[in-house]
Amino acid sequence: MRGKRAKKYRKLMHQYEIQFSFREPYQVLLDSAILQETAQKKIDLVGRLKGVLGGEVKPMITQCDMRHLYNAKPKDEQLILQAKTYERRRCGHHELEEPLSSLECISQCVDPKGSGTNKHRYVVATQDPKIRAALRKIPGVPLVYVSKSVVILEPMAQATEEQREREERAKFKMGLKGRRGGADANQKRKRDDEDEGAQEHGTESIAAESGGDARPQKKKRVKGPKGPNPLSVRKPKKRQADGPREGEAVKPKPAKTNETRQPDENATAASAAEGEELGKRKRKRKHKPKGDGGAAPEEDADTS
Ligand SMILES: [Zn+2]
Repeated sequence: MRGKRAKKYRKLMHQYEIQFSFREPYQVLLDSAILQETAQKKIDLVGRLKGVLGGEVKPMITQCDMRHLYNAKPKDEQLILQAKTYERRRCGHHELEEPLSSLECISQCVDPKGSGTNKHRYVVATQDPKIRAALRKIPGVPLVYVSKSVVILEPMAQATEEQREREERAKFKMGLKGRRGGADANQKRKRDDEDEGAQEHGTESIAAESGGDARPQKKKRVKGPKGPNPLSVRKPKKRQADGPREGEAVKPKPAKTNETRQPDENATAASAAEGEELGKRKRKRKHKPKGDGGAAPEEDADTS
């Protein structure tokens, strides 16, 4: 197997392992058609499967498919002997007078309850395109077939991809909720409400961020209208973390609350990047006893 394909398959199987808990040895249901095809072309199917799936393999055959091999018109005794060494999947159809078709039998083995889950985590190797089409609708069924003497692992089916995306989105949402619901954030919000300047902080920070470049786009991807909240909460955390503590400790002094307001008021006037520069200038000012806030950047230039 060439390097590029091997890498692709390794990635694929890794995804099946993470998302659907596939483990070695991989249980591979082989239908009679792929056994006949590979026997004809003298392909060592099980050996190739180890390479394609990148691990140990447990080949399996259903009772029905075993019967298909016995009923085959030119009966291949060699192939039957070989198939007998595989683990027999007891599908329970052996009592029927005629075996089920590979399609019916394998579909029932993979998803016995019809609930759309690959209950036993089978890999299915089949030469029948109808079987592969049917199994693509069930998430998490790796499908193998042979084309021109090459053993091929199909890319993930749409159903599998969709389920994976759904799960990842759910995990992501859980993560956000966990952060939002964190006690710290709520406590800080309450403290802010006590402060008079709290509302100003909130609105200003949102306004400043909406002017930003990349941030609002990321928010939209996450949740649309609710997107801005987590980041608008995060930013003021640093400022408010200092602010409210001072406010609690020394509530009666109005001068300190003014100081906390100053940088934010400037932030609305200027962009976020400029706001940082202003903050630095403000620090210089703090050494001087000038109390008034809301100074425009031009005035700063004059004073310095
Ligand atoms: Zn069966």
